[in-house]
Amino acid sequence: MRDAQARTIFLKDYQAPAFLIEKTELHFDLDETRTRVTSRLVLRRNPDLAGNVEDTLQLDGQDMVLESLRIDGNELSSNDYVVADESLTINSVSAFASQSPDAGFVLECVTVIKPQENTSLEGLYKSRTMFCTQCEAEGFRKITYYLDRPDVMSVFTTTIVADKDKYPVLLSNGNDIAHGDLDGGRHWVTWEDPFRKPCYLFALVAGDLKHIEDTFTTCSQRDITLRIFVEEKDLDKCDHAMDSLKHAMRWDEEVYGREYDLDIFMIVAVDDFNMGAMENKGLNIFNTSCVLANPATTTDLAFQRVEAVVAHEYFHNWSGNRVTCRDWFQLSLKEGFTVFRDAEFSADMGSRSVKRVENVSFLRTAQFAEDAGPMAHPVRPDSYMEISNFYTLTIYEKGAEVVRMIRELLGPEKFRAGSDLYFDRHDGQAVTTEDFVLAMEAASGVDLGQFRRWYTQAGTPQLKISDNYDASAQTYELLVRQSCPPTPEQSHKDAFHIPLRMSLLNADGDELPLVLSGEPAASDAPTERVLDVTSDVQSFVFKGVKSRPVPSLLRGFSAPVKLQFDYSRDDLLFIMTRDSDGFNRWSAAQDLAVAVIQEILQQHQRGQSPGIDKRLLDAVGDILRSAVADARGSGELDQAMLAQLLSLPSEAYLSELSNEIDVDGIHWARETLADALAVEHAENFADLYKLCQSDAPYSADAASIARRTLKNCCLAYLVRTQEPRWLEICYRQFNEAGNMTDADAALRLLVNSPAEAAQPLRTQALNDFYERWQHESLVVNQWFSVQAIASRPGTLAQVKLLMNHKAFDIRNPNKARALISAFCNMNAVNFHALSGEGYTFLADQVITLNRLNPQIAARLLTPLTRWQKYNQQRQHLMKAELERIQADPELSRDVYEVVSKSLKAN
Ligand code: ZN
Repeated sequence: MRDAQARTIFLKDYQAPAFLIEKTELHFDLDETRTRVTSRLVLRRNPDLAGNVEDTLQLDGQDMVLESLRIDGNELSSNDYVVADESLTINSVSAFASQSPDAGFVLECVTVIKPQENTSLEGLYKSRTMFCTQCEAEGFRKITYYLDRPDVMSVFTTTIVADKDKYPVLLSNGNDIAHGDLDGGRHWVTWEDPFRKPCYLFALVAGDLKHIEDTFTTCSQRDITLRIFVEEKDLDKCDHAMDSLKHAMRWDEEVYGREYDLDIFMIVAVDDFNMGAMENKGLNIFNTSCVLANPATTTDLAFQRVEAVVAHEYFHNWSGNRVTCRDWFQLSLKEGFTVFRDAEFSADMGSRSVKRVENVSFLRTAQFAEDAGPMAHPVRPDSYMEISNFYTLTIYEKGAEVVRMIRELLGPEKFRAGSDLYFDRHDGQAVTTEDFVLAMEAASGVDLGQFRRWYTQAGTPQLKISDNYDASAQTYELLVRQSCPPTPEQSHKDAFHIPLRMSLLNADGDELPLVLSGEPAASDAPTERVLDVTSDVQSFVFKGVKSRPVPSLLRGFSAPVKLQFDYSRDDLLFIMTRDSDGFNRWSAAQDLAVAVIQEILQQHQRGQSPGIDKRLLDAVGDILRSAVADARGSGELDQAMLAQLLSLPSEAYLSELSNEIDVDGIHWARETLADALAVEHAENFADLYKLCQSDAPYSADAASIARRTLKNCCLAYLVRTQEPRWLEICYRQFNEAGNMTDADAALRLLVNSPAEAAQPLRTQALNDFYERWQHESLVVNQWFSVQAIASRPGTLAQVKLLMNHKAFDIRNPNKARALISAFCNMNAVNFHALSGEGYTFLADQVITLNRLNPQIAARLLTPLTRWQKYNQQRQHLMKAELERIQADPELSRDVYEVVSKSLKAN
């Protein structure tokens, strides 16, 4: 690793650009061996910089050959500029410009690139038979020399020339303004995007694509053409994405007052893609996994993901494109806000409390772990080496929680006013998270001064709450202490402004009126409040409380914090059944299950045989009986929520809660409880399983998805009994399922069952599944991951075999994720085997991918960076593998940053 590549970029060094690009004209000559890119840029000195006399122009660019360079028609010779690994520097612009650079000049540049050799999947590259681009964050510099930074915004005109047979469809941003045929079987198209945009939103696609088309009439009665482009074989998997798009467009008009602005909106599906999807102006590019869906090949979970990602990228048209980021430290400005928007959209499309539960589960396992690890960073980071490493759960998910907290503090109406003001003030600009907060303050009058620390301080705050009931004074006190652990470069933290939504429940489960001491008593006092927690220690005293209440705290997870309150198990059971807040009912159930699993684990560690708290067994029985009664009768309960209530906390969450992760102990304790629940309640699970069957044709509506989720949750418990008849029923479900959700669920259970009788069924099912779906790449990915996450011994050997399977290709990120990532992240017992073979396996893959696709290599590395949480023996093995990676002389900046930061940690 050379020093120049290990450089760190700091927010404090930000400077506005010395030159602006008013107009960008690109000409692509696409070819199988060499692609020629001609750019014509209209530049001028930035007039907003006082005393700007800059005459040196440094453009970003890498991995290309420069053929010619002109300014105002004057050809520059190689003495007039310097080409380095990542830049092109012209020392004196004015020596070539025909007038002062203040007035503008034209830079013409011809470069040659080789997309067919580009395995990094950023810049212009080939995915199967098509050309496509990925420019965020800094991929445009692999296409041509440019000012590759989001505060340089330009109008783009793009001409694409290519062979007409192989690439009949040529797409870019905006509108098709002209096209025609050329000699030699080639053709051309010119696209023009009237909206100024940074180059990270540029896109180009060329291929033999088919499309489906629809129209959307906006709130101001404009008709928008909607097209989804795919390979012909996937035309039958586009309808769900199109429906989702139309729902998202309507929702953004109704909820945020945002209307679409171009006359056409296009989505293209590509198979090789580093992330989920990309919001390029008017031409979103999607990973096939986030756009294709049909009942036969796609699970319910994937249907929901398609809906969410289509909406997310569409919402970026305002939160990201019309108003963009000044620099990449502001990434959460667009990502946090847009994740918040898509989460609310999903909540409105399906079950609100279930969506919240899923979100919070994810946040407090994966994001909390990131916040506690060596790569912890604030929502607005202060520095980075490689920006691709900062597309993190902190930027996305915690960033969304920060926006949610602002809404919590402002209330929905003022929040909407703040959002309107933000879009209005900053339309067409590249701005900062501070601008967002300022707009929220200006529209609401709410002071977010202390709240801003959520943007600048990393780490997950802890809230330790204790209570005090004074019967004679009829007062109830909540004593709240907050703290936040140190993170890299931040040893001390100032107090956060934490919105604590809460309520007090009396013995009947009714909410009490909440009057704080010092406030006038009121007959219409609210029964739910948001307390402003702002100091390290703070006391809230409620008056007129006639008996000791049970507090319902952090309702709806009103802040991304770790809450500690010493609830008795009876309190948890009470909240679980009586709280009117659906999220807190689930949360109490989780807390109770965590306590029971931890107790089993401690007994196990002491060599005692486990005793399982009967109260939990009984509580699950109560839930099951009410679910059965409801399924037989009125069908009023939210079956997706029931499935959540019946699901035990994941091993990942239990690990996150541990100081030192006992990998095998956690697995054993959780399995022990799950098996006990299965045996205890087999009859109820069986009844519910049968009641959730349906002959209706597949539908991806929320109620049908909920019913299947609950049904397959029951089947999972039934298979745990290891009774042959349930294995057979599971196998039958696998064979006879009319949709992928039911087939996949059954397959996973057969693959995971330790029962002897499962073994032949598993082999048969896996073979049949591959036979049937070998031509559906996304289904084959599922087949890989099902096998990778089996907790049985010997799984790593199987994974290694699969790496050589003809359907596997490490260059395809979906395949790498399906096999390697799934094994390392979702199979703790095997990945963390004390032999160290799991760690060696991962390091080998990272070393391979480092050369092919650094972004994916760095991401894959995550589980090894969490060594601090394991015992000495594992720590030693994990660090040894990190050191082996670090010794690679050709480490990419991406991998270098992650490896070096994780080895530096204590
Ligand atoms: Zn996004």
